Amino acid sequence: MIYDSHMDTPSQLIRLRNLGIDNTHAHVDFPKMKAGNVDGAFFALYTPASMAQDSATRYALEMLSAVYDAADANSDLAAVTFTPAEAAENREKGILSLFIGMENGSPIQESLALLRTFYRLGVSYLTLTHNGDNAIADAASEGKRWGGLSPFGRQVVAEMNALGMMIDLSHASDQTFWDCIRLSQAPIVATHSSCRALCSHRRNLTDEMLQALGEKDGYVGINFYPSFLSDDFAKKPEEAALLEEAEKVEAAFIKEPGNPEKVKAWQKMQDRLNAEVWRPGVKEIADHIDHAVKWAGIEHVGIGSDYDGIEITPAGLENISKLGVLWDELKRRGYSQSQIDLISGGNLMAVYERVLSCSE
Ligand SMILES: [Zn+2]
Repeated sequence: MIYDSHMDTPSQLIRLRNLGIDNTHAHVDFPKMKAGNVDGAFFALYTPASMAQDSATRYALEMLSAVYDAADANSDLAAVTFTPAEAAENREKGILSLFIGMENGSPIQESLALLRTFYRLGVSYLTLTHNGDNAIADAASEGKRWGGLSPFGRQVVAEMNALGMMIDLSHASDQTFWDCIRLSQAPIVATHSSCRALCSHRRNLTDEMLQALGEKDGYVGINFYPSFLSDDFAKKPEEAALLEEAEKVEAAFIKEPGNPEKVKAWQKMQDRLNAEVWRPGVKEIADHIDHAVKWAGIEHVGIGSDYDGIEITPAGLENISKLGVLWDELKRRGYSQSQIDLISGGNLMAVYERVLSCSE
């Protein structure tokens, strides 16, 4: 079984992507998921740290609605999914399971009632922060406001435990991570994070964190973003300059997703990035999986590609349809098929099951 713990596809729905067809240059759509033998994924409702709370709530609800709309328009292909049991039923029928996550807690506006409401609407995990300290906790990229979880954040952790909602610590500061390890009654997850020992980005997890996740019966989904896989990525000034240019082209496209010229410019830029920038690939992702397995344990590692949330992909894994090359690489490294099944999605379903059962 194949389940990915983090994709930013809802943002692309707002940018007018039709998931029912095979879109050029897209990381994710239903035909590509099918071609990659994927059974389902967590679609994250991502709001930027810079967005005011009211706007974030509205934007999160619009994305949530867009996910439901995409499932309704393609009910023969996909369904919004709440539990691993429902996912198993979908799998029997050959229907993709769309779990929903929320990335950055701004939309809950310091209200446990809003947290519960989003959960009732299908949001099964909350990534406490994005790249900025918020009302709940400190983020890896800042880490200055609270020294970990805020007093409200401690209430959020308790409420999520009671609901059976997964606490996602990707993007969290190290102190936030350790606060949650200490306070959470349920296993915790990092839906899209890689290993700091292999790539020094502070958003990656240290060996001690990986070990603690494993000991707490949790989960880490290895992130495919080149910046989190290798310190050698974008080292050359011309590569860094092109990436900077790409950000501007993408921002222009995001502003006017219906403008064919902006769409074309963004697609052309993706071709240039793939051709002109050295990118880590399947080997590096497998290295991160090996390392995470060593520290967290084989039952606590999976994939959280971050597709549709990254402006550049790993070499050889330009979209979700190509996932098979990763399983081939793991096989080559000596993993058995049953171990690969755990990493490709079994562990993710199992940890969600454990979090749900802790709430009962
Ligand atoms: Zn993220």
